Amino acid sequence: LGGPENLPILEQHIDAFDTPSKEELRHKPRLVILGSGWGSVALLERLDKNDYDVTVISPTNYFLFTPMLPSAAVGTLELKSLMESIRHIVRRVNGHYLQASAEKVLFSEKLIKVRCKETNKEFYVPYDKLVIAVGSTSNTHGVKGLQFSNQLKTAEDAIEIRRKIVHNIEKACLPTTTDEERKKLLSFVVCGAGPTGVEVAAEIFDLLNEDLPRHFPRILRQEISIHIIQSRSHILNTYDKTISEYAMNRFERDNIDLLTNSRVKEITPESVIFDQKNEKGEIERKEVPFGLCLWSTGVAQNPLAQQVVQDLSGSQKNKRAIETDSQLRVIGAPLGSVYAIGDCSTVRNDLAEHCADYVRKYIIGSHGHQISRAHSIITDDDIKNVVLSYKEIDGLAEDIAQQNPLSAEALSWVNEIVPEYDVNKSGFLTFDQIKLVLKEVDSKVTSLPATAQRANQQGKYLGRKLSKLCKASTTLSINDIFDGDIDNAISKPFKYRHLGSLAYIGNSAVFDLPGYSFVGGLVAMYLWRSIYFAQTVSLRTRVLLFMDWLNRGIFGRDLLA
Ligand code: FAD
Ligand code: MG
Ligand code: MG
Ligand code: MG
Ligand code: MG
Repeated sequence: LGGPENLPILEQHIDAFDTPSKEELRHKPRLVILGSGWGSVALLERLDKNDYDVTVISPTNYFLFTPMLPSAAVGTLELKSLMESIRHIVRRVNGHYLQASAEKVLFSEKLIKVRCKETNKEFYVPYDKLVIAVGSTSNTHGVKGLQFSNQLKTAEDAIEIRRKIVHNIEKACLPTTTDEERKKLLSFVVCGAGPTGVEVAAEIFDLLNEDLPRHFPRILRQEISIHIIQSRSHILNTYDKTISEYAMNRFERDNIDLLTNSRVKEITPESVIFDQKNEKGEIERKEVPFGLCLWSTGVAQNPLAQQVVQDLSGSQKNKRAIETDSQLRVIGAPLGSVYAIGDCSTVRNDLAEHCADYVRKYIIGSHGHQISRAHSIITDDDIKNVVLSYKEIDGLAEDIAQQNPLSAEALSWVNEIVPEYDVNKSGFLTFDQIKLVLKEVDSKVTSLPATAQRANQQGKYLGRKLSKLCKASTTLSINDIFDGDIDNAISKPFKYRHLGSLAYIGNSAVFDLPGYSFVGGLVAMYLWRSIYFAQTVSLRTRVLLFMDWLNRGIFGRDLLA
């Protein structure tokens, strides 16, 4: 005991002396990683071994390959093929794993309050560096009756969906089942037409068309229905328009019932109640009975992330994610001690807030002074009286873009909006006007997507950086570290690269790659698979996935539950 609230502080892992490498690592800085998902695993893959004494804390002791979870939910793939033991992954860096959830971070004490769900016991884990990668939860939109629906986030969710589908089909075959009950059992409703909802609908469609006819009574075919309820007018609306349209046409042809412009009001044990807006703009209340209802309408904030934002409320401004700077450091936490990556985080766009700094640097830079001396010579008041020409603002924007790659694109068309802010058409902007320009730029930069792709890129970036930091701590001189900012001295800011999205639509994948889109066909299906195949973490999962596809091709889906 002895920690805050008189809870014990973890002094030493029970496996601290298990191997010579573990014993040696006890003297290294303690790196604690919260979560065992995409962000964490990418980080662990990039981290050099023997740099840190690593501890992963997560309630799930496996990594889950989420992009293929919809396939596992309907039995196209074995769930085990999508899971990889976190202990196996942690072993590479001679780290430790604790099955528990983080509840709170004490930033000044550098302690994490942790609870084990099964034992309901709490304790503290100390850290030197902390990475928060706890992901997101499902958005509820405050709808009543969600307990009657299913979600698809975890391995258990997939098992539950698969079990329900199989049992509903079997129940539908019983002689005691009425026609009406049968229709209800075979009605699948998906709320939310993002990639997950669309993929589940497509997988269910394939299952019903490819496997049911082989083994089940013919009558089932006519009684099956699939409905997608979507609040917007299009499905997959974050994708390219051609893709969205392709998917809609495809679903129409397949008799999948697309209910667009519809808002779910309530879910009862029997049916989904929703309001649909018709072409005249009138709202009609409607109801669809279901045997299985999937709720998949986007992400919401994880409870720990919520707690962190609340504890740092003086500095954190975003209500939906933990804000980091472009080095992925949590804003408001002691500099360089806490990072956040993946779904639970976002990189702040705050060019406007740092306008004075940028202008100061630009002026100093363009007059060739030594930065450190001039810093104090030009006061904030001097800066606020600055007036810059259009051409100078272009140069300023270029400088800022270099330091803020996430905003670079938005900054590249600054020259088009500058005249709008030059109220008296003088050819110059005042400091306050420049600040307004940067505000507009900030508002145009979209926040990072909640995707595996992003979490993976951030994890890799941070893993590499943490290893560099460890080595730099012995080689860097004070002169290398400007303003005490080691991160900035050794690494470039994080830069997100959009590599395209993929979604599965009934035996053909749709692609959204930067530059061009192409849709449909068998080739697409294999490409879809091979891309995921290459991303798969280990040889073991790769072999298992391959076996699953082979199996499905030869024997059809497995309908045991
Ligand atoms: P996660 O991978 O969710 O990991 C979070 C981890 O934190 C988990 O291990 C969790 O158990 C743990 N955790 C939670 N709370 C705590 C706590 N308090 N303390 C400690 N640990 C905690 N993205 C794509 O790019 N392409 C796709 O095709 C795609 N398909 C998807 C399909 C489905 C069905 C789903 C659900 C998601 C899909 N995604 C896809 C999104 C992708 O899975 C997420 O964006 C990604 O998992 C985010 O990674 P992360 O590391 O932030 O969080
Ligand atoms: Mg993670
Ligand atoms: Mg994951
Ligand atoms: Mg997906
Ligand atoms: Mg995360």
